[in-house]
Amino acid sequence: MNASVTARRLPIISLQDVRFSYEGGIEALKGVSLSVARGENVAVVGGNGSGKTTLAKHLNGLLKPSSGRVLVGGEDSSKTSVAMLARTVGYVFQNPDYQLFCTSVEEEVRFGPKNMGFGRDDESALAERALKLMDISHLREQSPVSLSLGDRRKIAIASVLATSPIVLILDEPTTGLDSVESAQLMATLDVLRSEGMTVVLITHDMRLVAQHMDRVVVMSEGSVALDAGVEEAFSDPDRLRRCKLLAPPITVLAQRLQAQGVLPKGAATPLQLVELVARVRGERQ
Ligand code: ADP
Repeated sequence: MNASVTARRLPIISLQDVRFSYEGGIEALKGVSLSVARGENVAVVGGNGSGKTTLAKHLNGLLKPSSGRVLVGGEDSSKTSVAMLARTVGYVFQNPDYQLFCTSVEEEVRFGPKNMGFGRDDESALAERALKLMDISHLREQSPVSLSLGDRRKIAIASVLATSPIVLILDEPTTGLDSVESAQLMATLDVLRSEGMTVVLITHDMRLVAQHMDRVVVMSEGSVALDAGVEEAFSDPDRLRRCKLLAPPITVLAQRLQAQGVLPKGAATPLQLVELVARVRGERQ
């Protein structure tokens, strides 16, 4: 995404100098400021305990700042109920079992739109679309508890999608999924993104970031250590290491080829690497 295009758009989420301390605990956010524009897709990465989940829970009002402000769709999260904020921001928990409580998959996916007062027709249309997007229509009569973690995660995402949020926040959605399930889930997110959904992905998987995201917010010890495009974020291995992160293998390969003079600089993601190799090949022919 062109930075000037992003800058021109109004933020759908804005954090202004947010600090947050858990009761009797440490300060988990130490003055975080960032904005997410409509249609952006942002990865939030960082080592364990760096504040990713605490940050994510501020984006939908589950946690309110100790100081500073969080604006969601222009509304101050401290003055707005979680239910109201959920009309703008859908939050998918790391553990789907925190979210699932109905006796059938269909009931689960219909619960959100029903609760938000969508009419019966809209409720059906939204639920059907979410079931189809997550490829779980065939499971509609099953009980979520009887299904695999991968399926339960799909149901949790479908139940949030069915509420038609503007922003989808996913906390470590690929944890516990095998490689194929993980790739399927990310492909679905790509579809949502191509339709204009704003996606905030909390993850420790840098390969997913390189392959699917545009912008990276690196959290370190409760602060934003870096907020940049993927290429810029992955460009400095020492900086990443200080934030307890490693660039994905594809980026390391590209950087080694660039260091050896085999390729010019300018590739950090699989797509960029393919484009760069094709360009170099074209120039040499
Ligand atoms: P991450 O998601 O990056 O692993 P978290 O946001 O979960 O980080 O945690 C940030 C800091 O806040 C850590 O030091 C963690 O121990 C602390 N923390 C997280 N949840 C709680 C809680 N419920 N009570 C007290 N401290 C917490």
